[in-house]
Amino acid sequence: MPVRHQERHLTGRISWLRAAVLGANDGIVSTASLVLGVAAAHSTHSNILVAGVAGLVAGAMSMAAGEYVSVHSQADTEQAELARERVELKTDDESEHKELTAIYVARGLDPSLAKQVAEQLMAHDAIGAHALDELGISETLSARPIQAALVSAGSFAVGAALPLLVTVIASEARLIPLVSGTSLAFLALLGGVAARVGGAGVTVGAIRVLFWGALAMALTAGVGALFGTVA
Ligand SMILES: [Zn+2]
Repeated sequence: MPVRHQERHLTGRISWLRAAVLGANDGIVSTASLVLGVAAAHSTHSNILVAGVAGLVAGAMSMAAGEYVSVHSQADTEQAELARERVELKTDDESEHKELTAIYVARGLDPSLAKQVAEQLMAHDAIGAHALDELGISETLSARPIQAALVSAGSFAVGAALPLLVTVIASEARLIPLVSGTSLAFLALLGGVAARVGGAGVTVGAIRVLFWGALAMALTAGVGALFGTVA
């Protein structure tokens, strides 16, 4: 009796997780920077909050729009490739058999076994076999524009909500140190998680995100302070 070993491939889930972590990262950096910039310009607490909420909505919508358009164009390309493949399968079955056989030979199968495998797979599901082994289009990784847009907008909004919550709680005097301090802590955490999920070093991942986050916040606060003095 062959022993079945359970292997859990997270490939599909990893790409979603990475997209969510990066989306939340964007939300924290852009909203915290916005809040710090407006605060550094000596705006009132309510104006800072309004700017932060507007930043959350604008950022989430632009992430959703960008993700939807880019993933949709990927989906369009995939559909066009599949449509072309269907025509080729209909008009030139013999070459398509040879093509798939050659792919399996290149992957290490004996020519006779490769021919047999190609014949059986094409008899079972010709377009499926060609989509996967020739075009690299698999059901698991195929483009899903709506889901991608929702994940992107949702994760951005969750990320942006963190510095906004701190802004609601913090007094005007302590707003800048509290928002920048907590946002950097959230970023370090997310950077570490993203690195861990991707199989990279947690510390390096955290430091990389911290550096760019701190730079974005410092620059925006600097510009805000500048405008605050001239306005
Ligand atoms: Zn083909």
